[in-house]
Amino acid sequence: MEKVVIIGGGYAGIYALRELAKNKNIQITLIDKHTFHNLQPEVYDLIANKSNIADVTIDLTTLCMGLNHDYVEYKNLKVRNIDKEAKKIYTEEQEIVTYDYLVMAAGTRTFFPPQIPGLNNAHDIKKLHWAMFFKQSFENQLFKKISDEAKQCDDTHIVVVGAGLSGVEIAAEMAYNSKMFFKRGNFSCDNLKISLISSSGTILPGLSQNLINISHQRLKSLGIKVITSTKLTKLEDGYAHLSNGTKIPHSFLIFTGGVEASKIEGLEDFDTNGRGQIKVNQYLQVPEHKNIFAIGDIAEIKNKDGELMPPNVTIARISGTNAGRNILNMIADRGLIQCKPKLDGILIALGGKYAAGDLMGLVNVKGRLAYEIKKYVFSSYRKPLLKLIRTGYSKLKKLS
Ligand SMILES: Cc1cc2nc3c(=O)[nH]c(=O)nc-3n(C[C@H](O)[C@H](O)[C@H](O)COP(=O)(O)OP(=O)(O)OC[C@H]3O[C@@H](n4cnc5c(N)ncnc54)[C@H](O)[C@@H]3O)c2cc1C
Repeated sequence: MEKVVIIGGGYAGIYALRELAKNKNIQITLIDKHTFHNLQPEVYDLIANKSNIADVTIDLTTLCMGLNHDYVEYKNLKVRNIDKEAKKIYTEEQEIVTYDYLVMAAGTRTFFPPQIPGLNNAHDIKKLHWAMFFKQSFENQLFKKISDEAKQCDDTHIVVVGAGLSGVEIAAEMAYNSKMFFKRGNFSCDNLKISLISSSGTILPGLSQNLINISHQRLKSLGIKVITSTKLTKLEDGYAHLSNGTKIPHSFLIFTGGVEASKIEGLEDFDTNGRGQIKVNQYLQVPEHKNIFAIGDIAEIKNKDGELMPPNVTIARISGTNAGRNILNMIADRGLIQCKPKLDGILIALGGKYAAGDLMGLVNVKGRLAYEIKKYVFSSYRKPLLKLIRTGYSKLKKLS
């Protein structure tokens, strides 16, 4: 029986898994270092207390159980090394997993530039435990402010470095959340200051001017100080030092300055780009190893015109499904299908029930409508996975 191993149970890995599971006569192993799939784009709701951990995670054991497949297994392991010649995967837990076909779907991690002293102490919200820590730190900051209010009411600064999608969304959500908090409790000490630092001349570089303008306006109305064309140079003694010669005191700093591909030994000889993403052919295979596919954020994926696709959920899902289908085709000796990913648009959450978006490059939306569309899009991603875990959960309960 052919053995397919997927490393990474994120959006890309799960969509590959769902496709592969259509063949009931292959053995599929899903490996992830976490026990859950983290619904990363929904983490803002967690931070803003609109949801809890159960709403932003999908249990991988239950999900695999829900697939109605006798040979699907999930292993909670951290992959350390891959021996491509022997087709073996070595893990931190000393377990060795063999494969005939391999799907690399290990995503990315936040890149902390080593040349910025002190940055290793910064927060990053890509990992769920950091998001939880951040949520608690933020709430503690708010609590500290109201506790100090009768004594002193010093400014509290939060610095967000990086004004791409993540930086803008987190800054907006925090500003909105704190505004509501102070208003609800009628607290007088409401001088929480948020600065958003962008090294480029604008926020949201690469997006349409219209989206940039709407987002900028919204950030301004939420009281966020946007500092562009400025780099973080060092973090020292509670100050963020900037390339424009100024320094900002901060209670905490969130770094969203960029990502790099997750590191796994044995992949060094793969052709990668500057972010460490694996270059793949139009079928999503690693050219030198046709039995290895790379999908989602860990791969450099291009559309049919050769344009680079940004790492996001839509591309992760499309590439996952495509790679799964191609492996089934290889097993059945059928021809491979080219991956032709297409983005339907972009939607940015800008705090509370406000968002802005550009749909298919044709329609611009903003405000509550854009927020509702974004919610709908993400619930449509979650829906099929929820169905699987419901099935899996009732199976597990019957077994216990
Ligand atoms: C805060 C935040 C907000 C976002 N908002 C949006 C948004 O609004 N819209 C959008 O489209 N995208 C958004 N994104 C991006 C989106 O989440 C990613 O593009 C998407 O998750 C990529 O899916 P993936 O499967 O490639 O990787 P991931 O979802 O990162 O999954 C990778 C998996 O691999 C596992 N893994 C990694 N290394 C190993 C190892 N060595 N061994 C075993 N397992 C391993 C990880 O545990 C993880 O489960 C956001 C991201 C963040 C962090």
